[in-house]
Amino acid sequence: MLQVEQLDVFYGDIQVLWDISFHVHNNEFVVLVGSNGAGKSTLMKTISGLVRPKRGSIRFGDVRLDQLKPYEIIKFGLSHIPEGRQLFPEMSVLENLEMGALNPEAKAKRKETLEWVFSLFPRLKERTGQMAGTLSGGEQQMCAIARGLMSLPRMVLLDEPSLGLSPRLTQEIFRLVQEIHHKGMTILMVEQNVKQTLAICDRGYVLENGRIVLEGRGQDLLEDQRVKEAFLGL
Ligand code: ATP
Repeated sequence: MLQVEQLDVFYGDIQVLWDISFHVHNNEFVVLVGSNGAGKSTLMKTISGLVRPKRGSIRFGDVRLDQLKPYEIIKFGLSHIPEGRQLFPEMSVLENLEMGALNPEAKAKRKETLEWVFSLFPRLKERTGQMAGTLSGGEQQMCAIARGLMSLPRMVLLDEPSLGLSPRLTQEIFRLVQEIHHKGMTILMVEQNVKQTLAICDRGYVLENGRIVLEGRGQDLLEDQRVKEAFLGL
């Protein structure tokens, strides 16, 4: 479904991603793990059109994304849920969710989609009128994921959904991500939380200093000596 080939990305003269190739199949749950500054967010931003690659290609189904603008990419069914949530703090939960459904197709189905996201996140249903900026950290993350789903994407890019959350809320968010996956959503997720993430995904890629150094099934990567040493303190 998503096919990334030989991507090189620079900020000015500084190269941050080297020769990145990977893919995500339809209905797959793939994670990219790596330490701080490895280039995970840059890779997500490149896929969603916020950063333009210098070389390489990004294909989503039959469509080549790497020359398109972010709003065009969303129309093809790819929803980027960025790190740090970026909700509109002075707008209500409902208004934030509605902002996710701006394209005509999503707008037409807004009511049904709202019912669906409220069934996934009942806590948001209880808080539709509350200002998003006053939600707890975990609730804000739920609201950001729910807003990303409102565009009725075929695939979501989830950037560090556990950032700043307690271990309990992190568990809760990961459980919800799994549930969304089991309902048929294709997911590419970036995380620093290596152990828990590899345990729940189908496949994973390890990014180190801007390069993919390992790939495999999540469970196999968890058993890999290099992953154990670099990320699990074993
Ligand atoms: P973290 O887990 O800490 O968020 P990351 O793996 O997501 O890290 P990126 O945010 O992609 O890493 O950053 C990769 C490298 O690119 C870092 O060295 C960072 O300083 C640099 N970088 C990121 N954004 C910019 C920018 N807008 N301009 C210049 N350099 C940047």
